[in-house]
Amino acid sequence: MFDVQKIREDFPILKRTINGKPLVYFDNAATSQTPQVVIDTIIDYYSNYNANIHRGVHTLSQEATDAYETARIKIQHHFNAKHSHEIILTSGTTHGINIVATGFTGFLSTGDEVIVSALEHHSNIVPWQMLCERTGAILKVIPMNEDGELLMDRYDSLLSDRTKLVFVNHISNALGTINPIKEIIDKAHAAGAAVLIDGAQSCPHIKPDMQALDVDFYVVSAHKLCGPTGVGMLYGKEKWLNQLPPYQGGGEMIDQVTFEKTTYAGLPHKFEAGTPNICGGIAFGAALDYMNAIGFDSIAAYEHELLEYGTSKLLEIEGLKIYGTAANKTSVISFNLENIHPYDVGTIVDKLGIAVRTGHHCAQPIMDFYKIPGTIRASFSFYNTKEEIDMLVDAIKKAQMMLG
Ligand SMILES: *Cc1c(COP(=O)(O)O)cnc(C)c1O
Repeated sequence: MFDVQKIREDFPILKRTINGKPLVYFDNAATSQTPQVVIDTIIDYYSNYNANIHRGVHTLSQEATDAYETARIKIQHHFNAKHSHEIILTSGTTHGINIVATGFTGFLSTGDEVIVSALEHHSNIVPWQMLCERTGAILKVIPMNEDGELLMDRYDSLLSDRTKLVFVNHISNALGTINPIKEIIDKAHAAGAAVLIDGAQSCPHIKPDMQALDVDFYVVSAHKLCGPTGVGMLYGKEKWLNQLPPYQGGGEMIDQVTFEKTTYAGLPHKFEAGTPNICGGIAFGAALDYMNAIGFDSIAAYEHELLEYGTSKLLEIEGLKIYGTAANKTSVISFNLENIHPYDVGTIVDKLGIAVRTGHHCAQPIMDFYKIPGTIRASFSFYNTKEEIDMLVDAIKKAQMMLG
């Protein structure tokens, strides 16, 4: 049974007070909080077996290597990748996207096309614009409607034999829209294009299956799913990872080095130059264990309850408008109060102990679409409660009275 009070005990930070008020943490789409088991994993690593991996024969190095490679296999199983060498450990979503966007430089030429969606985070826009500048390829955008849903018939008409790549997020961080990625992937493949899915927002809520999706690349950040910052996954199909050139040169990624010619290591090491975030990788594995023990079905069902409750409570506030009303969405609510700047609301609710995000959420094109400077975004996790949502609603009403 899903017991939120018991789950809250796992997160030491939830006992904190802010300005004398209990912390209400509703900025989960920016980063999630860390359960004690993950914190303990980090302490255990640095207390007992901190060493560099893959090259030492000594006991500590072997223990660290075993733990790191065990984490890679955990990640492989969690995402149902066919091979563990298809799991590249990165510093996060942004790093994973840049490995692919840079790697495609030699594969594109003038007149080729790449497709992005109107719903993207800047980190799934800018690296592709840079790729287009290097290669002369053209960036096309799948538009969205007022609800924040992609216009799939417009996607159909953008696809052609000139399309080489499609990159879309699984779930929008700014609006919570769940995109129909299986359809997006299948249609891209029918046109002969490869697909990268930005899974930074999906991995905290659902368990994506790499083989069932038949996706070419999938990227996530551990810090959005109860893990530490500075570590993430780039999943790539073996055939793609073999074709792409390495992103960085250095130690760990080589086979033979001479001053005449260097040959590269095989997968996954070809993309893991230098000493990686060893402890982070191990803690990423621990975070997946923690979330799987609760179960993603329970997590998704409970978060959906929070979304419905929060949506109906917030809509009771006069002059409050929600942006992002897709039929299929996760527990993210972006909203504004009539004639009040989102930043002013965020400042007041922080005084009341509530952490929400205000601004453009690294998705300026979405804000431009709605012609607003930004929104207030409350994003709920499985450790949040309806009582906390009530506190948010009271705080928003207070802010409205003070600012209105
Ligand atoms: C958080 C986020 C990113 C960026 O992740 P980093 O960990 O900062 O690299 C990219 N895309 C989406 C949808 C996100 O939510």
